[in-house]
Amino acid sequence: MADTILVTGGTGYIAGELIDQLLDAGKSVHTTVRDKAKSESRLHQRWPEAGERLKVFQANLERDDGWAEACDGCDAVAHVASPFPLSVPDHPDDLVIPARDGALRVLSAAHGADIKRFVLTSSSAAIAYGHPPGKSTFDESDWTVLENPNVPPYHRSKTVAEKASREWVADNAPDMEFCSINPVAVLGPVANDDVSTSIELVLKLMTGEIPALPQVGFGIVDVRDVAKAHVTALDAPAEKVKGERFALSDRFLWMRDIAEILRVRVPAYAGKVPRRTLPNIMVKAGAAFVPDLKQIAPELGRTRDVSGAHAREVLGIHYIPAKDSIEATARSLVQNGIVKL
Ligand code: NAP
Repeated sequence: MADTILVTGGTGYIAGELIDQLLDAGKSVHTTVRDKAKSESRLHQRWPEAGERLKVFQANLERDDGWAEACDGCDAVAHVASPFPLSVPDHPDDLVIPARDGALRVLSAAHGADIKRFVLTSSSAAIAYGHPPGKSTFDESDWTVLENPNVPPYHRSKTVAEKASREWVADNAPDMEFCSINPVAVLGPVANDDVSTSIELVLKLMTGEIPALPQVGFGIVDVRDVAKAHVTALDAPAEKVKGERFALSDRFLWMRDIAEILRVRVPAYAGKVPRRTLPNIMVKAGAAFVPDLKQIAPELGRTRDVSGAHAREVLGIHYIPAKDSIEATARSLVQNGIVKL
């Protein structure tokens, strides 16, 4: 059983929940941050009981230094860190290069430290995009079609990084027990006011920043299930995980469903949640001028239902219902003072 795990990107939403679950299970954790001077004390404040079981290292996906030190003494790696910005960058390479080269840096350092088990946090963004419009259901056998120029930069970065990682392992470390975890949009309780891009959706619905509901939808999975899938994949027998992809999803919901769940489950804080539908024609017209509308225009009316069945069967993930994840997101945003009445 792996005793010391490297979790990259300890400041992140998913990495935070994963560190929580690993420490609760009695493991020791190495984690990396881009700026140790800024983040180390915050991480120790979040997990005061961890003491020597939590060590923080400085490493940037765009640089070589720090990764070997972070891997030293570890039995397994969960490579979670990757750029996940809210806005679309000027050039896809702004995301693709750090995502891909960063993953290869971490793989190479792990291999150099004789670490065999490597779990990559990929995404449904590497599965369900760039396909013909009629395709609406997806699983681990599907890959985002990089030849389609309309695949957005973030989705491109996750696809390129996962493909490059798999090729690197095949060429350089075929004995490595590599697998990827490919979640859809991750919701659930937040631990602080530094919210991930996926949480922004619920936040903007609650604050009224989204004034009307575009006809777009998302697969939803809870952050606690995403962390649990990582914990299980880090420890499972090699024959269950080696080479595998594990898509994680409870269900696909339209934005109007998410708004309705917020109204029913957290009525006191749902006063600003919109009821009106934003007509498709307005989204398309506004897409030329408003970056947010440009991002969602290709998603109008589009179902991308990614099956979470394989992870249920192999990793034993019994998904927290999306309705509960949405409620937990909302309540934690209130508890952390991010959403106020
Ligand atoms: P997050 O809270 O934004 O965390 C991203 C982490 O990556 C942060 O710790 C960030 O560090 C780190 N990072 C970004 N660029 C870096 C760089 N150049 N060098 C080192 N670290 C860097 O996002 P998250 O939601 O937890 O996502 C974590 C992972 O899950 C990502 O790989 C993402 O693609 C994947 N994922 C997320 C979702 C979702 O809906 N949330 C769904 C599927 C997959 P800083 O704090 O220094 O910025």
